[in-house]
Amino acid sequence: MESVCRNTVDILGVQVDRRDFAEALQTAIAYLSTDTAHAIYTPNPEIIMKAYRDKTYCDVLNRASMVVPDGIGVVYGARILKRPVAERVAGYDLSCALLTEAGKMGKKVFLFGGKPGVAELAAENMENRFPGLKICGTAHGYHKDTSHIASAVQKAGADIVLVCLGAPKQEIWIDANKDQTGAKILIGAGGSLDVFAGTVKRAPALFCKLNLEWFYRLIKQPTRIGRMMDLPRFAVTVLLHGKRQKG
Ligand code: UDP
Repeated sequence: MESVCRNTVDILGVQVDRRDFAEALQTAIAYLSTDTAHAIYTPNPEIIMKAYRDKTYCDVLNRASMVVPDGIGVVYGARILKRPVAERVAGYDLSCALLTEAGKMGKKVFLFGGKPGVAELAAENMENRFPGLKICGTAHGYHKDTSHIASAVQKAGADIVLVCLGAPKQEIWIDANKDQTGAKILIGAGGSLDVFAGTVKRAPALFCKLNLEWFYRLIKQPTRIGRMMDLPRFAVTVLLHGKRQKG
């Protein structure tokens, strides 16, 4: 049903929603009143390149209820393909806005991911930051066997689950487990728990404004350079696809 209603752009096989931030937020809030589990993914160019190389992962992304353009590269990609998205919708910002609204509704959130101790630290900070929000459970992201996590989420009665295992692990876990959690929204939110916990700082506002958040993360974690080589590869691949479409 979702794919019928969704207005998307196909970026290297991944269906990315063209909603702006406010529409994405309203859509997510509406999910809270449904009786099914909704996956929200937040791909950047690196994730789209992973999906381009791996059809099974691409199918996982395309089974989501909503896929928002997290990276500025995705926004440019859509523009090159002549089906622009409204704006960048950063997964962290969408999560914050949703948690603010969820707090007002007294909703329960489960945090899954990060190194041991990070989710607990994030939980404390988040309950202070989002009044009314109840963090009903946490689990770190380094369990060998994650089969018990879905039932832990279900027992905790969570409405929303932040799944922060990095890509592709988080999307694959959500796809396989979402229907067993009883939750309404499961978001693949990458390194967000580290930011909520305060163990990693988000890029200063100026970097975000200039669309240079990726550059800030590279300076802070130079080991990301290998992963970031996918940025130019993404640009070239999208350009080639755009040309082929024209031809
Ligand atoms: N992580 C995890 N389990 C794993 C691998 C990673 O919980 O097996 C966590 C890691 O601790 C970090 C997050 O997943 O908090 C991934 O962060 P990354 O910066 O890679 O994600 P991005 O924000 O780039 O999507």
